[in-house]
Amino acid sequence: MDFDFNHNDFFRSTVEHAESRLVRRLFSLTPIYDSWKTGQRIDDRSKAFSLSDVTLYTSLESCAQCSGIMSLAGVKQIVYLQNDFTTYMIGNIMYNLANQVETTGADGTKKKLPGAPMPVPAAKVGVAEFDRLNEANFAFCSMLRNPDKLDPPPAFFISEDGGVRDASPSITSFLCTDDARDIFEQGVKKFDGFSPRYPKFRFPDAGPDVLSNEKCLEEAIAFYKYADVDGYRGSPHKL
Ligand SMILES: [Zn+2]
Repeated sequence: MDFDFNHNDFFRSTVEHAESRLVRRLFSLTPIYDSWKTGQRIDDRSKAFSLSDVTLYTSLESCAQCSGIMSLAGVKQIVYLQNDFTTYMIGNIMYNLANQVETTGADGTKKKLPGAPMPVPAAKVGVAEFDRLNEANFAFCSMLRNPDKLDPPPAFFISEDGGVRDASPSITSFLCTDDARDIFEQGVKKFDGFSPRYPKFRFPDAGPDVLSNEKCLEEAIAFYKYADVDGYRGSPHKL
């Protein structure tokens, strides 16, 4: 459907995260795209009323703000590629504590939706990079937290004149390391060379709109190409 980026740096902000920016974009765009599966229409409410059929995919576990915004938007679930050990698993906490919301489908059947999106670590859907990123992040943190073991003491960044020294083990620093980049690059290679084991398989009994595995892959490749080439759509100056 759509994508967005973190724009903290652009806005000199700490809250312009990708998930919340994306949810706000979807609310502003959903009435335009009839084919988007954004949940059952509820009588005379706007189609964007609920994102209860929508799964978000993100590189990093969501923070309190984004979990809250996704919860208010009724997002079904969020698949994330890496833990953020500074967010205290807030998404899981919200999922466990939020009240279930009862909805009535177009055919009159009632169902209970979670009051917050279900957090799905990517390892649960077979993405090995989830554990690799977490392990590399731990290694990075423990290296910076145990400076006595190395001489000179390790740092994430030291300016040429030595005047600026950053040894904070933050997740954003980790994501700038060669180790993190290698894991992402290997993931890209895997994706580029991927072919489904059962190309013609479609999830059974889920209606005519369900895509076969090979069609899903085709769409995913097209989406990434679109995000790459038209990446400026995530930039505020183009909106
Ligand atoms: Zn966030």
